[in-house]
Amino acid sequence: MYYIDPHIHMVSRTTDDYETLAKMGCVAVSEPAFWAGYDRGSVDGFRDYFEQLTAFEPKRAGWYGIQHFTWLCINAKEAENVALSREVIAMIPEFLDRPGVLGIGEIGLNKNTRNEATVFLEHIDLAVKTNEQILIHTPHLEDKYQGTRMILDMLTGDGRLQRDRVLVDHVEEHTVGLVLDQGFWAGMTLYPVSKCTPQRACDMVEIYGPERLLVNSAGDWGPSKPTAVPDFIMEMRKRGHAESLIRRVVYENPLKFFGQSRGFRFNSPLDA
Ligand SMILES: [Zn+2]
Repeated sequence: MYYIDPHIHMVSRTTDDYETLAKMGCVAVSEPAFWAGYDRGSVDGFRDYFEQLTAFEPKRAGWYGIQHFTWLCINAKEAENVALSREVIAMIPEFLDRPGVLGIGEIGLNKNTRNEATVFLEHIDLAVKTNEQILIHTPHLEDKYQGTRMILDMLTGDGRLQRDRVLVDHVEEHTVGLVLDQGFWAGMTLYPVSKCTPQRACDMVEIYGPERLLVNSAGDWGPSKPTAVPDFIMEMRKRGHAESLIRRVVYENPLKFFGQSRGFRFNSPLDA
């Protein structure tokens, strides 16, 4: 089955991973900007990173027949440095009209601090003013519930936002309902050690239905599995779900969400 991984950090993966994804039916990936494993020292570090995300990484994906899309921001961890964050936010528009850029992300909260919230709101303001979509990271484990509540309060407090152009990622059982009820898209991240498993993601599709739900691997340089979306497909098949339902979650839903971005041009493998 063709599928799309809507949240995967390919800069931290090998070309072998691209080849494996392609063999498993992956036709497109979307890569949000994230933490590099160290705090970057200046705005130029981000400019170089955005260059990599928008110029080289799509080329590398293309070698395996995979289309590559991206999101730009300064992540929540480095947002503690508000002065640097403001320099990055002012620089982002240099890249927004490049092919394959889908919007602002992954912004969000990490430790739910005041500085993180300040930078989150300034990203939202940029997204609204530039008419970009938004992809949001929610915090880990013990900080997730409170952080998700804070994020939803900030989002719903801005009357300018179009909620169906915002994706709130890394939802779990205790946050998915909050996100969907408010009209946002929700992403389930399949991780070997935390977040969600393929089984729990299937449970959530069974409980909430496929509307505005996405599944991703978040594959990065930590313990993660870039082929987690095919694991979800297998689990859905084992449970006897229709292929049309599975395809809706792993293929049609990402297309519908991404399709609202002006930077999204998709060459459908079905047209080939
Ligand atoms: Zn991520």
